[in-house]
Parts: sequence; structure tokens; C-alpha cells
Amino acid sequence: MGLLGEILDAALEIVAPTRCAGCDLPGELLCERCRRDLPLVELQGACPSCGAPFGRIVCTECWERRYGFAQAVAACSLERPMSRLITLYKDGAERRLAPVLGAELTKAIRDSGWADWPSALVPIPATPAAIRRRGFDHISSVVATVAASLGVPALGALESSGARDLRGLGREERSVATASAFRLICADVPPRVLVIDDVFTTGSTLNAAADLLLASGAGEVRVAVLARSW
Ligand SMILES: [Zn+2]
Ligand SMILES: [Zn+2]
Repeated sequence: MGLLGEILDAALEIVAPTRCAGCDLPGELLCERCRRDLPLVELQGACPSCGAPFGRIVCTECWERRYGFAQAVAACSLERPMSRLITLYKDGAERRLAPVLGAELTKAIRDSGWADWPSALVPIPATPAAIRRRGFDHISSVVATVAASLGVPALGALESSGARDLRGLGREERSVATASAFRLICADVPPRVLVIDDVFTTGSTLNAAADLLLASGAGEVRVAVLARSW
């Protein structure tokens, strides 16, 4: 960091002191207690198909569901303080959380034994409307830090094809709306793609991305997310 960067950082620290994204304690972006309290998914017990916690033996969601992606892993379940970290990061209040969130994702990928597997990391792109509203593409920034840690290239292979506000839609409506959610914007799709998103809810969005990548030449697609909504 240059001198100007240091001065700006010091000034910012006076105007808006760093607070824990989990509990507002001043001092660091994620305090010791909140880091300890992260609702980490126990990978040995998680559903190998969708990453749901405690789903290895019976994941009811996967009983009646087959995804295009082969496997999914979630770093945490969508509970506090992770849910709060994601919200603060996404709404732009604390963009410096990108490497903090990226570190949790990197750890989950490593713990799954996937660190050497991907040919590329592909972020789920935000819709143009969401990027305009937030002023940044939140997942791409997280993926950049994961890519640097793992030494795997990040590839912006997908573009959102527009409206994709799924709030309020039922499961059936969601899958129709997501089927055409993405466009491919890279020339060559690498063989082993790890798709990355913030939250896995129904899996429809991730599935649409996986289907498109597989139809465009990927041999296998896996999924890693910050949090599984369960
Ligand atoms: Zn805290
Ligand atoms: Zn499952």
C-alpha cells in the first residue's frame, strides 16, 4: 500500500472505525468470538450432492432432485453470524469482507479435497440491476481472492441474461425463470469447472449455470457456496 493509501485508510478509520461484521465490536472485520461462532458445515456429515448440513444419510431435498452439477459444498449454513456477514457485504456496507468470506470458502474447498481439482473458478454473475444497485459484482470479488489462494484461474464465463429476481416465486416458477438465466461469454469452457455463489437455496440458479457449462463443453461441474440455506 502506498503512502496515500495508508493516509486514506487512517482517515477512514477515524470517520468509520472498523467493526466486526458479526456483532459490531470495534477493531476488526470479524472478531475472534464471531469467527469461532461461524456456523460451519461439518463436511463429513453434509449431503455430498447439495452441501446441506446433516444430509449425508438423508437429504430430503435430494430425494426428488437431480442436479447438473456433480457435487456441492457449503462453508456454512445460512445462520448468524455468516448470514449477517453476507448481508453486510452484499449491500455494500462492508466490501472489505471479500477476503474474509473468500478465506472461508477456500477452507471449505481445501477440506473437501478439491483444491487441485478445478481448471477454473466461475462466479455466478449478479444481474445487471443488482450490480447497478450495489455498485459492484459481489461474488466476483470473493472469487478473485479464492483464485489467488488456490492458484486456480477465475473465469468470468457467464453473463446474467437480465431479469432474475426469484423472490416470491415458487419452485416450479423458479426453474422456468432460471433455465434461461445465463449466457456464455467465454470462447472455451474448461474441463473441470467449480461454480461459486454466495447462497445455495433451491439450487435452481446453480443448476442452470451448471447445465449451460456442461452443454458448452465442461466435463464436470461442482459447486461451492458460502452458505447453505436449510
Ligand atoms: Zn464479532
Ligand atoms: Zn442434498
